[in-house]
Amino acid sequence: MGKIISLSEDIVNKIAAGEVIERPASVVKELVENAIDAGATAIDVDIKKAGKELIRVKDNGCGMSSEDALLCVQRHTTSKIRQAGDLFNIRTLGFRGEALASIAAVSHFVLTTKEKGEVAGTRVTVSGGVLQRNEEVGSPEGTTIDVHELFFNTPARRKFMKSDGTEAAQILDIVTRYALFYSTVSFRVVNDGKIILSTEKTDDVKQTIAKVYGAAIAKELLPVNKDTEAIRVQGLVSKPTITRSDKDHQTFFVNGRLVKSPLIEHALHEAYHAVLFIHRHPFALLRIDVDPSMIDVNVHPTKKEIKFEKSDVVYRFVYHAVRDVLEKENLIPAVEMQAMQEQMQLTKGFDRRFETSTQAVLSSNVPMMQRSAVLVERSHIPALRLLGQVHNTFFIAETAEGLLIIDQHIVQERVLYEQFMHDYMKKAVKPQMMLEPVIVELSAADALFVSEQIDELAELGFFVEAFGGNSVRVRSVPSIFGRLQPSDVLPDVLGQLREGKTTAVLNKAESVITRMACRASIKAGDVCTIPQMYTLLGQLEHCTLPFHCPHGRPVFINVTREELERMFLRG
Ligand code: ADP
Ligand code: MG
Repeated sequence: MGKIISLSEDIVNKIAAGEVIERPASVVKELVENAIDAGATAIDVDIKKAGKELIRVKDNGCGMSSEDALLCVQRHTTSKIRQAGDLFNIRTLGFRGEALASIAAVSHFVLTTKEKGEVAGTRVTVSGGVLQRNEEVGSPEGTTIDVHELFFNTPARRKFMKSDGTEAAQILDIVTRYALFYSTVSFRVVNDGKIILSTEKTDDVKQTIAKVYGAAIAKELLPVNKDTEAIRVQGLVSKPTITRSDKDHQTFFVNGRLVKSPLIEHALHEAYHAVLFIHRHPFALLRIDVDPSMIDVNVHPTKKEIKFEKSDVVYRFVYHAVRDVLEKENLIPAVEMQAMQEQMQLTKGFDRRFETSTQAVLSSNVPMMQRSAVLVERSHIPALRLLGQVHNTFFIAETAEGLLIIDQHIVQERVLYEQFMHDYMKKAVKPQMMLEPVIVELSAADALFVSEQIDELAELGFFVEAFGGNSVRVRSVPSIFGRLQPSDVLPDVLGQLREGKTTAVLNKAESVITRMACRASIKAGDVCTIPQMYTLLGQLEHCTLPFHCPHGRPVFINVTREELERMFLRG
């Protein structure tokens, strides 16, 4: 007798449901997406017992006719694609036409809907995939879907659900991200009668962000906007001062669909490279729009993951979109020309002797005010007058709009890091030859390791050769770090190279350079004269990212005049 049978529709539906609907939050996601596709401007999500007992999603969208209301709960029914070609040109959130059928297969499901302009509404009741009732009812325009006792007929799934706290948090997380992205729609989430999220519809997404994450974050965001014909990235990212230890505050929408994309995450992370502390992550809300034919949204039943056809193009595009903003943005408040000029009258001659390329401007006979104008225009750092050093650690400077406190160690670290990195990338690190080679005694492990690293060390400016036993002879050190003792720095460099063994060459070199820059820099406690301070700041001006050390600590702290006045209760 044959062993193969055709599965009953009931089983097929349950299998499909298992793929699309993993937990209460997936139901919420599908229903919210449908509401958005229906053009709703207000979406209410009401849950009981974290959605295990009831999920109700109510929208004021276009609603459905009585025919459609009956059809939509069947599998593979959708109003969103009509032919196979449409699959490659999807602009709506749904398209598989199986969410409602899947949800109705594993719950007691009630759909109430009324099309705009119709007199009567429709109510369709389905239980475990079986149609119970189809009736005409009074209903407001729009659609309300009630999902009672999710997974009542699939005990395995039911057991798989996590605690109420966890499931409710997942629901809140999903709706929050949609609320951020679709800020022109108002959202409300009510859990066991308590409002846990409520946003007003607005054209200013920052208001929604302030509502959701707090005003402090909303104030510190930078706009991202880069586009070409094939791809566009828009949104907001945080200044490096606003970070978190996890990536919870990163939301990516690709062609309007919430996605998890390690590719985009990584591009964002790289864009902040050397601006953030390690293990800190920026806030980001990014929408990426690509030609729909460039992505495959069909790879995952819940459409959470997507595949980009030209992933390297997308990666580079996102990276540059964010990186450009960070590089261009004056991350400490810019000095207003007006305020600047007023200040000029007060403090005669801002003493700013940058010895580098600005020297030409300064040494010429241009009157001071115009000189400053030139400086302001081309500099990241506001014109300033250095007042001195406190605790041999911080420089204090007056600017037109307040007070700057500058960490001397961090300034130099940034300068050395960028100079060295620049030379290294061009394979032009200058070695400084020792008058006498220095013999350095290493640990056995380092001695073994050093023999494999001769070439890499040479690129970093260290000419090293074996000297018998565990010793090496060091003939040069990188000239930027000329003041470092080889016996101090070499074990350190080897340690960094070894730690980074599995990562790319550049990453390894970078961790070495970061480390060396830190060690070679003046320390807290080192005396620094005012001319030395100007020299250092002049060099900082040439940095691409002058506001943070390679570990992500800020170089400056800016105290504005208003803040000072407020502190003294003048305001
Ligand atoms: P898909 O969204 O992939 O088309 P669904 O099963 O989620 O599949 O929905 C099936 C169809 O039901 C949709 O194509 C749409 O026409 C209709 N629909 C679902 N939810 C709503 C809603 N909230 N408002 C209006 N129409 C809806
Ligand atoms: Mg859908």
